[in-house]
Order: sequence, then structure tokens, then C-alpha cells
Amino acid sequence: CFFNCTTKKQQISATSNSGNTNNYKEKVDSVLSLMTLDEKIGQMVQYSAGWDLTGPASSKSAQDKLEKMKKGLVGSVLNVVSVEEVRKVQELVMENSRLKIPMLFAYDVIHGLKTIFPIPLAESASWDLELIEKSASIAAKEAAASGLNWTFAPMIDVSRDARWGRIMEGGGEDPYLNSVIGVARIKGFQGTDLSNPNTIAACAKHFAGYGFAESGRDYNTVTVGEFELHNSILPPFKAAADAGVATFMNSFNDVDGIPATGHKILQRKILKDDWNWKGVVVSDWGSIGEMRAHGYAKDKKHAAEIAANAGSDIDMESYAYEAYLKKLVSENSVALEVIDDAVKRILNLKFQLGLFDDPYRYCSEDREKNNIYTKEHLKIAREAAKKSIVLLKNEDNILPVSKNIKSIAVIGSLADDKNSPLGNWRGKGKYNSAVSLLEGIKEKVSVSTKVRYAKGIDLTIPTIKPGYNQFLYPLKFNTTDKSKIAEAVEVAKKSELVILALGEDAYQTGEGRSQVNIGFAGLQNELLEAVYEVNKNIVLVLMSGRPMDISRANEILPGILATWHLGSQAGNGIADVLFGDYNPSGKLPVSFPRNVGQEPLYYNQKNTGRPYSGKHVTFSGFRDSRKDALFPFGFGLSYTDFSYTNLTLTKSTMSKEDEVILSVDIQNTGKVDGEEVVQLYIRDFVASIVRPVKELKGFKKIFLKPGETKKVSFAINKEVLHFYTINRKWEVESGDFQLFVGGNSSTKLKTKITVL
Ligand code: BGC
Repeated sequence: CFFNCTTKKQQISATSNSGNTNNYKEKVDSVLSLMTLDEKIGQMVQYSAGWDLTGPASSKSAQDKLEKMKKGLVGSVLNVVSVEEVRKVQELVMENSRLKIPMLFAYDVIHGLKTIFPIPLAESASWDLELIEKSASIAAKEAAASGLNWTFAPMIDVSRDARWGRIMEGGGEDPYLNSVIGVARIKGFQGTDLSNPNTIAACAKHFAGYGFAESGRDYNTVTVGEFELHNSILPPFKAAADAGVATFMNSFNDVDGIPATGHKILQRKILKDDWNWKGVVVSDWGSIGEMRAHGYAKDKKHAAEIAANAGSDIDMESYAYEAYLKKLVSENSVALEVIDDAVKRILNLKFQLGLFDDPYRYCSEDREKNNIYTKEHLKIAREAAKKSIVLLKNEDNILPVSKNIKSIAVIGSLADDKNSPLGNWRGKGKYNSAVSLLEGIKEKVSVSTKVRYAKGIDLTIPTIKPGYNQFLYPLKFNTTDKSKIAEAVEVAKKSELVILALGEDAYQTGEGRSQVNIGFAGLQNELLEAVYEVNKNIVLVLMSGRPMDISRANEILPGILATWHLGSQAGNGIADVLFGDYNPSGKLPVSFPRNVGQEPLYYNQKNTGRPYSGKHVTFSGFRDSRKDALFPFGFGLSYTDFSYTNLTLTKSTMSKEDEVILSVDIQNTGKVDGEEVVQLYIRDFVASIVRPVKELKGFKKIFLKPGETKKVSFAINKEVLHFYTINRKWEVESGDFQLFVGGNSSTKLKTKITVL
């Protein structure tokens, strides 16, 4: 009776969006009882249908896929975007299949659909959870208005390696920061009620360890011990599960020899049993079939068996489940309960999204027309852009620049680039649609300011038609054509100030975009030196998707802004900061190295047995480089200054269950309004396993007027002090803890607490 039942939705309360609650148990069971084994397995099949319907056909023939959908043998598709296309596919299923179970429509909405927000790493630099939630909610609204109901985001893989191309897609190197940012994004995508048609299901990915790929090579093997896994990699996923994220995606890599896609302990034991999470696990693209290449499955059938038993509910594009699950069930290699469990999870999600009530609820031409790329959305994109910028250096207050300055030379191909600021994974962001840095500057300065632009160099040499799926093609850097450097030198000579845009093309980061060189590619170093030769008054605007090696620039230049890839409103956001309309407040979510040889580099390292620096030598460092970061995690300057005083604890000893309050006074001691991210770090001196020298455990972003003082407090309790101990449990251990507070991870302001 489920069709009749579901029309009376008001009788069944849909009060929670949580993947952890099953509000639709009766309905789900009722649907399940009607399904054949083929239909059940169909729900576990996901195709990339978009390319077949609207573009070049992928590995499986378009016709074949369409026929399967008609028979109700496919549960979800990805890469179908637009109300028209979604409706077309949904109709195939609703008008032809026996049980008319609506489809899910997924897409990688990573930092916006058409209104493009800063890349996730950049936005994480804002440490502004409200803003992050807001931008995700706008991304969801635009996605939902395009017919979609599921995004493969947020990526919450902790990553400590600047070489890894996908570092751009996450929240950086810290587990706590990734946790709270991941939760903010999930809340933004899912809202408080998934049945609201402006919200979509989110996906915590990639479970697990993907960001720890050895040497930063994409998809590479991950060798991580059990305690490091629990303490550094899993916390953001636990937080996502607790926040009710609707889905998880597993991962391409192996973890200590077991491919994550076939990892029973990760998926079944930890995620589904220990954490009691009731959502859907989707495989990564083709990752079930790829277990053959890992040397873990002897053929696709074997791969399907391993993945299903390990708890991978949906097969994305391996075609393994559709081909072999039925046989595996008949051979008792996969239990019917395994299939039923997966299908129940999938049906539950479809009920949560309201698709059984109205399969076309995401297909509103009206919303598609009015809810996408609106003025209001672009306004928030500009807000997000300016708040994601990190001021790394500001010698002699070279910034902010007066709008009445007589002349500015704007140099670098990235300055006039309307495409790179959109970054990788830019949804349906239109090619060349970002506000460029040059446009942002011209818009801002007074009519009397002379702005001279020179490209200086072409960073890359075009290898394909612009706009086409660029990420599929290799980048070629220009290393020979120096013809435009002379012109850049000329304009630099004539101008009071140089704004030099260097860094990375959008497609130097993203999936399959790892690099061994994290310095300036092509002829950018030559351009830097040539311009510096004639004008020392230079502000570097660094555009990138990763922390870069900017040691040389830091040595010689007075001003540096890390501006990442900031999205649709990039140029305006940067100009807001350059000319002082916004006082920068971003803090690095990743350490900036001195040299690529330091990677992986992260602040929350463990001490070696020989941590000290001798007079002549640092034993545990390098002979040819300092071992610390050039700019540490949490670092970022402001146009004003902040002082930290009166660090006090309500008690200096506590029991394991106690809560003690740590407070500190922050004063704006400069002349302009400013925001500061007040950060709390701890160190557990002696523990049952070696603990990091510092760990972020809280932060608060506050606004202060000149001269104003605010007291900021942090609760020191179990949540702050516990970790995954030698007993394989999250516990607080007795002993001394150092508590640090400050504006970045190298803060020395500290006090001590003893846990009895
Ligand atoms: C990526 C995922 C993504 C999927 C679908 C894979 O290659 O690793 O993060 O969601 O493709 O596009």
C-alpha cells in the first residue's frame, strides 16, 4: 500500500534530517516487501547518466542504461543537471518501472553550483562557521533548483601534504577544524529538514584516509596506525555521522593493505555498528572494480562480494553489483540481509527527501529560473571571498592601499584571468565568469588612479579549446616565451605600486592533480625577479589551491596576500582587502612550507625522542632547511593588532568529569575595526600513546573596535581532553596538560591544568 500511505505524509512526522534516525521504518519495510531481488539490487546501482544523455557516452552504452532505468534496475544517477534532464530521467522510471521508486540525482556540488564560492580550503581559512553554513545552503538551494537532491560533499579528509591535488577540496590539516567545518557544511546542505525542497542530502567523503596518500600522490596507498587513524583521520567523520549526514562515500586508497571500499572494519564495524549510523554508503567512482587493480579481488564478481559484505551500499560506476550480486546471493556469498540492509538505507533516504510523495519535487522550472546565480547569492559569494583571504606579510604597512594612489601596475596573467579564480570542482560555474583581480581593482580605485596592466607571461599554453572539460587534459606550462616580461618591467617602473598576481591555474589542483613542484611554475620566478629589480614596492597576490613554496617571495617582498581560488566574486573580494574596505581576518588552515622537501608538514606533529635543537644542529630536522613552517597553521595578520592578556583558569586541577573555564582578554590595540580568531590548543604531556605537541581544540572569531577589549572563554572538559587511548576507547587520562591560547598555532601564551 505504500503509494497510498505516502500521500498521507502529514500523518508521519518527518522531524529530523538525521541519517541516524529511521522515521520511515514502516514505509520502508512495506516497499521492501514488494521488491524482487533484481529490483533490490537495482537500488544499489548508480550510473553516471549525464554524459550519456547530454554528452559523450561513457563506458556503458547509453541505450543500455536507459533500458535498465525503465525497468527500475537503477536507484540513482550522477551528472544529470537541469530540471529538464532530471525530469526526463525521472519520467523514464516513474512511467515505466513496476514499483515506480523515484531516483536520486547526485552531483559534485563542492563550492557552489553556478554561484561559485571560494574553494573549500580557502573558505576554511575564514574560520567562519556561519558563513560556511550559509554558502553551503546557497549551493544546496541552487542545486535543488537544478533538479538535484544529493551532493557529494563535503570532503573532510584531513590532509597534511601540499603536494596532494585534492588538498583544495577540504578543510586542511587539522582534525578539529575539519570536523566543525564539515558539520557546518552538512548543516548548510541539509538544513534542519531534508524534506524542504531547497535542501539536499550531503555526503561525508572519503571514508577513510584518502588525504594521507603517501607522498601526496593521488589515490596512493595509506599506511597509518590504528591510533593515528582514530585520533587524526576519523574524528571529522564521526562528527559528520553525529550531525546526521545522509550519506558517506568510501575511498580509492587502501588503508594498511585493505582497500577502503572493501574495508569491513571501517564501514561495518566502526561506521554502521559502533557509531550506529543509518545512512547510505556510496562507493567512489569505480572503486569496487578497482579492487582488482589493488590485487585484492580476483575479478569483478569477487570485488562485488567484498564490497557488499564490507558495507558499500551503492556501486558507483563499477557495474559489479548489477552483474554479480544476484549470483552471489544465490551462492550464499552475500546474505540477503546485506542486500536488505543496503536497500532499506537507500529507501529511507528517498523517503526523507520526500521523493515518494512527489518524485518531481526538485523539478521546478520556476525555482530554476529564480533561485540560481542571484544578486543575493553573489553578494554572499563576495563576503565569502574577502573573508577567506589571509594576510601573510605586511611590512611597513604597505597594505591597505589608498584608493587615491596615483598609479598601480597590475602584473601577471592570473590578474586578468576570469577562469582560474573559479577553482577546480566548480559545479556548473560558467567558464570565464569570475570577476578578475584587474576588474576588481579598476572598480575600486579613484578616477585619477592610473592602472596599468601587463601580463608578463602566459602561465600555461592552451592545449584545448577553452571552456571544454579542461580538467581532463594535462596542463602545459610556458617555460620559453619571455617576450612579455619587458612590458611588465616597463609598467612596474612607471608605477608607484605593483600588484603582482602569481600562483596556480585552477587546474593545478583537484583530483589527479598532485604535483612535486609547489613553487611557481613556468616563468613566474623570472617575472618576479625582473619586476623586483625595478620596483621594490610589491604586493604579491597569491592565487592557489594549495599551500605553496613562497620562500623567495617572502624574502624580498613587503606584502603577501594568500587569496586562493576565491570563486565568482574573487576580484571584488581581493580589492575589498587590498584597499582596506575589509580588514583581513583569515587564518591558514594548512601550514605553508619553506620547501617542498618538508612535506608532509603539519603543526600537530609528535615529538621525536630528540626534539631539541643543539647549538649547531637540529637532530630531528634537516641539515639544509629549518624544520618549522614558513607560515604556521592558524596564522594570519590583520590591519590592526591584538593583545592577549589575563589568561586565567577557574581551577588548576580538575577531575576527569569536571569542567573548568579558561578565559583570556583580547584587545584591539590598533586603529581600525578588526576580527580575530582566538584559538585554543592543548598538549597532553605524558599519555598512554604519544600525543602531538599541540592540538587545536576550540576557536572563537570575534569582532573588536579600536581600543575595545573582549573576554573569550573556553570550557575545558572531556571533549577537549580525551583521545583514543591505548585501551582503544576515547578517554581522558590523568596528568598535566598545557593549555595555549593565541592568534596562531605557534602561540606561546599558556597555562597548565592537572587532571586527577
Ligand atoms: C571522486 C569523488 C567524486 C566522484 C563523482 C570521484 O572520482 O573521487 O570525490 O564525488 O568522482 O564525481
